[in-house]
Amino acid sequence: MSDVFDLVIVGSGPNGSIVAREVHERNPEARILVIEAGPMITGVAGEHLVEVDENAMNASYEDLMRRARQIEYVKGAMVEIEGDGWNAESTGVFPAAFFGHDFSQFPGASVSWNIGGMGVHWTAATPWPYAEEVPDFLPRQEWDADLETARSLLRTYVGPLVDNPFTEPIFAAIREAVPSPDPEREFGYMPMAGIPHVDRPFARTGPRDIAPYLFDASEPNVQLRTGLFVTRIHHDGSTVTGLEVRDLATGETTTISGRRFLIAADALRTPQLLWASGIRPEALGVRLNEHASIDGDVEIDAARFGLSGADIPTPPPGEPFIGSYWSPSVGAERPAHGQLMERAFDGKHVLGVGWYCATEIRPENRIEFSDEQHDALGMPRMTVHFSYSEKDMEVIRQTMQVQRAAANAVGDFPDQDSEILPPGASLHYTGSVRMGPADDGTSVVDTDGRVWGFENLFLAGNGVVPTALTCNATLTGATLSVRIARAISAGI
Ligand SMILES: Cc1cc2nc3c(=O)[nH]c(=O)nc-3n(C[C@H](O)[C@H](O)[C@H](O)COP(=O)(O)OP(=O)(O)OC[C@H]3O[C@@H](n4cnc5c(N)ncnc54)[C@H](O)[C@@H]3O)c2cc1C
Repeated sequence: MSDVFDLVIVGSGPNGSIVAREVHERNPEARILVIEAGPMITGVAGEHLVEVDENAMNASYEDLMRRARQIEYVKGAMVEIEGDGWNAESTGVFPAAFFGHDFSQFPGASVSWNIGGMGVHWTAATPWPYAEEVPDFLPRQEWDADLETARSLLRTYVGPLVDNPFTEPIFAAIREAVPSPDPEREFGYMPMAGIPHVDRPFARTGPRDIAPYLFDASEPNVQLRTGLFVTRIHHDGSTVTGLEVRDLATGETTTISGRRFLIAADALRTPQLLWASGIRPEALGVRLNEHASIDGDVEIDAARFGLSGADIPTPPPGEPFIGSYWSPSVGAERPAHGQLMERAFDGKHVLGVGWYCATEIRPENRIEFSDEQHDALGMPRMTVHFSYSEKDMEVIRQTMQVQRAAANAVGDFPDQDSEILPPGASLHYTGSVRMGPADDGTSVVDTDGRVWGFENLFLAGNGVVPTALTCNATLTGATLSVRIARAISAGI
């Protein structure tokens, strides 16, 4: 194989994998290289942790997920796997501050450091964006078709995780407590990416399920190289010629050449790499957005539904959840959605009542990159500026009312049990390299995901999402990745 690749992708998470797959399926002859800094986390590269059992992190996946909170997962994984330090051999998801950044205003933010990115850790909730969440500058038919493709790549499933007599009573109670003006947006099952099983956990979709040949080396035209950290994009201001990579084992630096380049290194490290490379459009890192996370747990009052503790189903071994439910947003009237995870542990039967509400897109919320200070990997140090506006606080208060109404429909939920999690905690950051219809200083990429002013540099991932989401970000980012892959393929 020649050393000049048709497409070089940075990042083996869900978005890098989707673009690799879509471009390969359209152009089987194209030579594609995916570069990943993180090491193996299990013996089966790219597979979701819930699917393999030889790894300490997988063994504890059920435990880590029990709170059904990303932030608890990160804390738990950190303590269990690495003690209190990070180094290049570490694997997992780590607070961004670990790398030496100032994330005091966005303390929940974390990054993955392993093959498959966060896609081997995620809960896999894949609700779809609605109303204002859908970018209005994209042709609607194309959006709808790309959303369907993304759903199918992520294997989105809507239905029960186990047979559960509590489900219908919970549906009825919450539908009454939190009515929806749109029958299509009634409380119901949360769309989940994966396949249900009766004797083993819900098989969450990992990057390996999206593009198996990327991870098992069965397709010579699609290669994965790991342990390589991309430090610079070489370019002349409009054309990228190669990527500078550091071998994390040997420290050796080389250049990888290609015709097209896609950076899918998450919503924080993608803009960081552009900044480090002197690619600094006005909107880079600006308008960082994240829905606010409102959380809580309510004990389900079985007697209220004519049921008892004996009716609580047991999930398959290793599966933390009995049920996964969705209270969809309904547009501007209720720009918030609920992810309600039912589980039984320590003799308790609880419903996690997590709500995400959209926050305003504001330029004040941004990542500042330093030219003087560097992180643990020698990249520009990041400081995140992030706060909630008055309007955000109003929406947060309204969302807490919705959460309390839903929670009190299934049990007793004192007001003080409702909690606002720290910014960054959802791990669903968007907007740092946003897509836009015009090069007007408010976007970094065009509607093909191509960096303004560049002919062969593309970006993908949640950072590209230009709208304020209520929904978990991955499906929306994946929908744009399908679109971006089509544009890249057209030029091959
Ligand atoms: C515990 C947990 C639960 C979650 N639950 C949900 C959920 O239910 N629903 C949902 O929508 N989302 C969820 N998420 C978030 C979801 O996993 C992410 O949205 C998704 O993985 C983003 O995909 P990505 O490919 O853009 O980035 P990532 O998955 O973060 O992958 C980026 C990759 O790029 C690599 N990389 C970065 N910089 C470089 C570099 N310079 N050189 C080489 N490689 C580099 C990283 O090592 C990483 O592997 C969850 C995440 C976690 C951790």
